Amino acid sequence: MQALMTEVLGGDAVEAVDAEENEENEQEAFINLNEAIKKELIEGYMKDTTFKQIYEILKHNLKVPKDIHNHINHFEIGKDNLLYFKASANDDSRVCVPKIPSIRTKFLHQCHDLPCAGHFGVEKTFELLSRTVYWPKLKNTVKKYVKTCDTCQRMKSSTSHKNGLFNPLEVPVGRWTHVTMDFVTGIPRTDQGFDAIMIVVDRLSKRAHFLPCTKDFSSADTARLYLDQIFRLHGIPKHITSDKDIKFMASFWQTLHKGLGTELLFTTTNHPAADGQSERTYV
Ligand SMILES: [Zn+2]
Repeated sequence: MQALMTEVLGGDAVEAVDAEENEENEQEAFINLNEAIKKELIEGYMKDTTFKQIYEILKHNLKVPKDIHNHINHFEIGKDNLLYFKASANDDSRVCVPKIPSIRTKFLHQCHDLPCAGHFGVEKTFELLSRTVYWPKLKNTVKKYVKTCDTCQRMKSSTSHKNGLFNPLEVPVGRWTHVTMDFVTGIPRTDQGFDAIMIVVDRLSKRAHFLPCTKDFSSADTARLYLDQIFRLHGIPKHITSDKDIKFMASFWQTLHKGLGTELLFTTTNHPAADGQSERTYV
């Protein structure tokens, strides 16, 4: 299989990925959350002293007290009425989550211990969470959460058996927020019945996973493969660019989210960019 993949991937597939790179416009960064959690967040701001002050000043255009003059420049209220934080001009906006344990736990849960998230350590959980979410001392909260996670404790005490189930695969350093997912078909069927390869590439690090599949793979099959092989290592990406059509990808996201097995915080609305190039890009 390895030889076969190398052969198939030698030419066209790699070029296709490169071409994609130039073609896609970066989309406005904002975060899609489901309506229920949005409502909780907005109500929650009023119960969080820090965010309440900032929210009200921005919302009603109030005079900014001197002591938060610099600080407040990092915040803005989005069209969705959520409060957003930006560490610096080039960073993505992150949604502010008020200091209400039930709400913060939902986000921690989503990035640490969803059924297929595999209980990431502090660094990975923090990295996933901090792509989209902000609150003061976020990392401390993550540390506490991971430290007190039952499953993690049990796993820790069992990792003295070196050859257990939890031997980590190599985790690439890249961030895996923007990935491409393309398919190479028309290759000879293998003994195992595979006749296509799904290639998932992290656009930042250019690292790739090559996953054997079949050309008849449905969106649901694809989502399951993604969950099994990509999500458990890298979490959920912000954008997937694919050679599949919009219908396929919409259904792919649906299955992906169903497979995550919890109430889903993030939705998957498509935001086409103005030039129409990114009709293949999904948030
Ligand atoms: Zn855990």
